[in-house]
Amino acid sequence: MSIKKINKDGFNSFVDGIIENNRVFGVQAKGDKFDFAPLGSATDLTLDYDVTLGPPKKYFPPPTETLLTFDETGTFESQHDCEPFVLIGVHPYDMVAINQMDQIFAQDNNDTHYFARRDNAVIIACDVVTPSKNVFASVMGTATVKDGFDILLTDIGDGYIAEAATEKGEAILEIANGKEPADSDIKKRQQVWENNEKQLNKHSLNCSPQQLPKLLENAYDHNVWEEKAKTCFSCGSCNQVCPTCYCFNVCDDINWDMQSGKRDRVWDGCLLDGFTKVAGDHEFRCNRADRFRHRIFRKAKYVPDKIDGQIACVGCGRCVNACLPDIANPINIYNTLLEDISV
Ligand code: SF4
Ligand code: SF4
Repeated sequence: MSIKKINKDGFNSFVDGIIENNRVFGVQAKGDKFDFAPLGSATDLTLDYDVTLGPPKKYFPPPTETLLTFDETGTFESQHDCEPFVLIGVHPYDMVAINQMDQIFAQDNNDTHYFARRDNAVIIACDVVTPSKNVFASVMGTATVKDGFDILLTDIGDGYIAEAATEKGEAILEIANGKEPADSDIKKRQQVWENNEKQLNKHSLNCSPQQLPKLLENAYDHNVWEEKAKTCFSCGSCNQVCPTCYCFNVCDDINWDMQSGKRDRVWDGCLLDGFTKVAGDHEFRCNRADRFRHRIFRKAKYVPDKIDGQIACVGCGRCVNACLPDIANPINIYNTLLEDISV
């Protein structure tokens, strides 16, 4: 696969070349924050951002999508969004989260709605330049990423090293005006990786991530859940901003003609009251502390049990930023448990 060094002054024409022929979403400034949004010009793209408000997961299972339409005869038609797009600026920890979601949505019933988007996406990942105030990707082993993307960009100061990892990435990289990187450029990229593997560490964990499932096995009845949940608003922000949270609700919406309708899938969150409400108005996790515990168990016990021990927290720090009472940081919870439970 190709690898090119693209000088900073030639980078915008590369991005504008991508925009000319594709539907593109990229990271842009919103005041002093950043987020993914439709990209109309390379000058709007920001790659030295710290963290985006929301994760790029919104392009795969979007917050709301129609799964199928139906009518009174029982006829239904599945809806799939197959329109290709390019996503520019995905940080390594978010790429790891997308890789996890790929495995989750392929399990049991392969989710064709998810994969219609995923298969038609080109992901241009970029290494972190500016660590965010609550990132702990180094701790979780997600500060760099080796697969899942189509192109990886690394800012080495006077330019970007752009390396294609797939045929789709190769086709995009063809339009870049670049040259083969010198050995010194490759060394600079290696240095960026080594620095990020150490420096995206605003919170430290007092055990290895691999020990977390064992820690939680003995933590179900710990008082940390009640203590923390005392100030939880059940707002669900920690779920919504998390790149590894993928829970959804499915709702039927009948049209005014009362003869046809659609079935929508919408994001849901385990911290929200009503998340576990089922037919007959039964709710089996109506206690806030139980919901609070469930989120952490899902991150470090239930998902690792499903996908080869991978912890469903990539250390992006978004939940820490988003939680008003400052109780959502998984690292604080693990470290509190470690004071009482040995692993
Ligand atoms: S739990 Fe928090 S820090 Fe971990 S991936 Fe989710 S939002 Fe990021
Ligand atoms: S832990 Fe924080 S962000 Fe999550 S639901 Fe409770 S108050 Fe909201």
